[in-house]
Amino acid sequence: MTRRNFIATGSAALFFVRDPALADSTPWYRRACRWGQTNITEKDPVRYDIAWWRDYWKRTYVQGVIINAGGIVAYYPSKFPLHHRAEFLGDRDLFGELSEAAHQDGLAVLARMDSNRVAENFYRSHPDWFTRNASGDPYRADDKYITCVNSGYYDEYIPDVMREIIQRSHPEGFTDNSWSGLARESICYCDNCARKFRDGTGHALPKKHDWSDSTYREWIQWNYARRVAIWDQNNRVTKAAGGPDCLWIGMNSGSITGQSRSFRDCKAIWERAEILILDHQARGAAGFQENADTGKLIHGILGWDKLMPESMAMYGTGGRTNFRMANKPPAEARMWMIEGFAGGIQPWWHHVAAYHEDRRMYKTAEPLMRFYKDNERYLLNRRPWATVGLVWSQRNTDFYGQDNTAELTDLPYRGFMQAMIRARIPYTPIHIDNIAPEARNLKALILPAIGAMSEPQCAAVRRFVDGGGSLIATGPTSLYNEWGDARTDFRLADLFGVHAPANVSAERKSTPQSQQTYLRLSPELRASVPGPKAGDEPAPIGQRHAVLRGFEETDILPYGGVLEPMRVDAGVIVPMTFVPPFPAYPPETAWMRQPKTDIPGLVLNKRVAYLPADLDRRYGRENLPDHGDLLANLVRWAAGDSVPLEVRGPGLLDCNVYVQPGRLVMHIVNLSNTGRIPIDEYLPVGPLSIRLKLPKDLPSRRVRLVVSGVTVTPKIQDAWATFKVDSVVDHELVILE
Ligand SMILES: [Zn+2]
Repeated sequence: MTRRNFIATGSAALFFVRDPALADSTPWYRRACRWGQTNITEKDPVRYDIAWWRDYWKRTYVQGVIINAGGIVAYYPSKFPLHHRAEFLGDRDLFGELSEAAHQDGLAVLARMDSNRVAENFYRSHPDWFTRNASGDPYRADDKYITCVNSGYYDEYIPDVMREIIQRSHPEGFTDNSWSGLARESICYCDNCARKFRDGTGHALPKKHDWSDSTYREWIQWNYARRVAIWDQNNRVTKAAGGPDCLWIGMNSGSITGQSRSFRDCKAIWERAEILILDHQARGAAGFQENADTGKLIHGILGWDKLMPESMAMYGTGGRTNFRMANKPPAEARMWMIEGFAGGIQPWWHHVAAYHEDRRMYKTAEPLMRFYKDNERYLLNRRPWATVGLVWSQRNTDFYGQDNTAELTDLPYRGFMQAMIRARIPYTPIHIDNIAPEARNLKALILPAIGAMSEPQCAAVRRFVDGGGSLIATGPTSLYNEWGDARTDFRLADLFGVHAPANVSAERKSTPQSQQTYLRLSPELRASVPGPKAGDEPAPIGQRHAVLRGFEETDILPYGGVLEPMRVDAGVIVPMTFVPPFPAYPPETAWMRQPKTDIPGLVLNKRVAYLPADLDRRYGRENLPDHGDLLANLVRWAAGDSVPLEVRGPGLLDCNVYVQPGRLVMHIVNLSNTGRIPIDEYLPVGPLSIRLKLPKDLPSRRVRLVVSGVTVTPKIQDAWATFKVDSVVDHELVILE
């Protein structure tokens, strides 16, 4: 027997252990940090080299594997005649063989299901278990038929299949690829849905997508509740059949928009989950940094003591085409994993198919899996060392964002995320309903276009400000109620010191446009490098507000959006005003028709900054450095001297700092020149000069740079540690103890 020991206890449960002393106390879902998944095809039963994969498990230090079991395709001889066996399975029990091998190797096994769709013969046998459109025709995906979450397929058939799998092979738990059924775009009009919706709400199903229709809104909430009920129901089934630690844990996305489209209630589900299985395989438009943000955002609900392995594709993704059989450029694959670690995510390599002719893909994960194993104590059970909270709300994504979440809710959040990463300001994502419990750790809250806000949510923000916190709010924040209906004014107008424009209904539609508009900085300055005078109007001289620091050589900033007149309360500061659009072409016409207005572009009211100009959205989309600088200035102004980190030196660095008892842990991820997808090399940056504020009980004497393998002595002054990092290639893990 290897250093891993193996204990089988009766029929219900198998426990794997690294340390025999922990065998009886810590369940698998708190111990299995490193995962692997060979996501097989129907062809694989005849070419699955189990011995080779067992060696690969060992080489990559996995503690758990995800093995295809059933659903669309069964990889064992199921007793259910409609459970379609893989085309090349024959009578083989591939799932059982792999589970046994994994258990012998001391690994946890998750049985992978996909309960979303089945073949036509299944549909013919149970037509009442399938989704239907308004005409009564079944919804299909290619040649498969989509099952209904309100039918016996979910209530009877899937539970029976899971019981069968548990009895045969005793997996530690179940995942399900697309467990949450028909996505929001389609309304299911099957008899089960019609009856259950009427029983639950008293209404007939909504006739069409219409966010202003109260029945449609109820249908949205009813759908969320059903998915939570499925989560609980499946867990009751697996625990009853497989013991209290046999969990059903579905699959979740890291995208709030994605979760919303699938009716997955992030807060309800992530609060329930003992471990979260994250299907978020590669970067999107927000870059690698999205993964660290996702990790922090989910841990904020899940808890920082729980595990969240994430499927990390070793095959070609991220471009326009998925190349399931080709090696992903290792620099691209590694950077996604590294940013996951920086957000508290655990590694999980993912290969599609059990046989590959591109064998390079087997080399990518190994070094980072070893890095994770060697440094696990720094990567788990920690809390963000940050004083700025970036607020998110799935309710806002739904009822303010509606069908345009990319523009209305995702980009404003992303703009602040990117601006703070670029400025090396540590932040932590905060769910809007967790403001009160998180408030004591935070100096500033950012509400990026949180349009839809309930009365209690508005009250929580007000209490945060009353308690001494600072606030940055943008665009429509608090202009709508929790159903997305416009109020006559911002509910937080008293905090903002400004009142909503008369024409609020245009607000949602105006966001994507981009015209040649500007923001005028006030007062205008006579710059150190004077330009020519404009006619007979001499530039005034004055003292600008600190939020405009760095813009001394300009009186305008490019903007791109359009602002409406707003009534401003007495006593507030308006450091920026709107310059309306004027032609860009031909150049002869490109002069400001109205150089000055009193339309506010930014309003400061004591510790509250309200930004009517959607610079957050625009920075998320367009990357203009001026917009990023202004957003960072606002955050620094709001957070005051509470920001616990300063990093000097070149490059785009994602810096995340965490606190553990007696220790600070800092991730520096070098994102410089990672804009191109995929990347194929890293360009080192450095030296970096770092100042880090120490917690009260941490008299740090020693700074360890784990990746570089060096220890440096910090200079300590006034509870700040100052030290140097000579060079960062891809990442550095800094430990202060
Ligand atoms: Zn239905």
